[in-house]
Amino acid sequence: MIIFKKAANLASWLEKQRSAGQSIGFVPTMGALHEGHISLIAISKANTALTVCSIFVNPTQFNDPIDYQKYPVTLDQDIPMLEKAGVDILFLPDVAEMYPDGTKSLETYELGPLETFLEGKYRPGHFQGVCQVMRRLLEMVRPDHLFMGSKDYQQCMVVQRLLGIMGLPATLHRCPILREPDGLAMSSRNRRLTPPQRANATGIYRALTAMKTGFTVQPPPTLIENAIRLLEAAEFRVDYISLADALTLEPIPGPSPAGVVALIAAFQGDVRLIDNMVLSEPSIR
Ligand code: AMP
Repeated sequence: MIIFKKAANLASWLEKQRSAGQSIGFVPTMGALHEGHISLIAISKANTALTVCSIFVNPTQFNDPIDYQKYPVTLDQDIPMLEKAGVDILFLPDVAEMYPDGTKSLETYELGPLETFLEGKYRPGHFQGVCQVMRRLLEMVRPDHLFMGSKDYQQCMVVQRLLGIMGLPATLHRCPILREPDGLAMSSRNRRLTPPQRANATGIYRALTAMKTGFTVQPPPTLIENAIRLLEAAEFRVDYISLADALTLEPIPGPSPAGVVALIAAFQGDVRLIDNMVLSEPSIR
């Protein structure tokens, strides 16, 4: 595995590979790696000649400065994990490399309604930050294929929109959510949970599966009320629970058999967790 810290060196090395006809897969991360990240790398390796992974904790996407300060950094463990997973290139920039003109007055992106609900509503500015870092990374790596996790369902939609805004031909692959044996979605933030919080945290998965089970027989408001009760019993403070159209993320107005996703964001202590589950696949529209 070759490690690059400078974007110019990365870009010129990749340009040579591109000219030699190698296809490039890209897995952007913020590190503190777990098997969920490694699953994206495995999918990239199965579909492309070269896999580039980046680790960069992007300051501009944290609406909460404490969350940024407490974001786990575990490079000593991450690098051997990436070597073992067979990553070809690790890009490890610092903040000055990504934002040479600073982070104060950055460009903004027209994201439409996506920015007004769910993560967009509860984390103001978050998706602007995601676009700011992703635009820079995409310009540096210029991947043919981009591999991202459907755990960050709305983020995938935002990045798809960004690819359109940038006019980039890269294909975005939305990859499955990897879970712990008790159903908790793997996340770098899980490391911050105390043992009792970790035991409670599976409540999100239980709430999602309860919604999936009840989906065909109960109306959305009842499903959501039951899920709130379940989360509160597990000591969660709920940001949102939404039953939404899987293609637009607009809340569904009533019973809707096809194309529904349930999404949850909730705090266990000061750790904010998100997860989602597709309740019914979209029909072809
Ligand atoms: P992060 O390091 O949290 O920014 O995540 C980097 C990438 O890994 C994003 O595309 C995430 O959606 C994806 N990811 C995070 N958790 C999981 C998971 N449990 N299963 C699959 N992909 C994940």
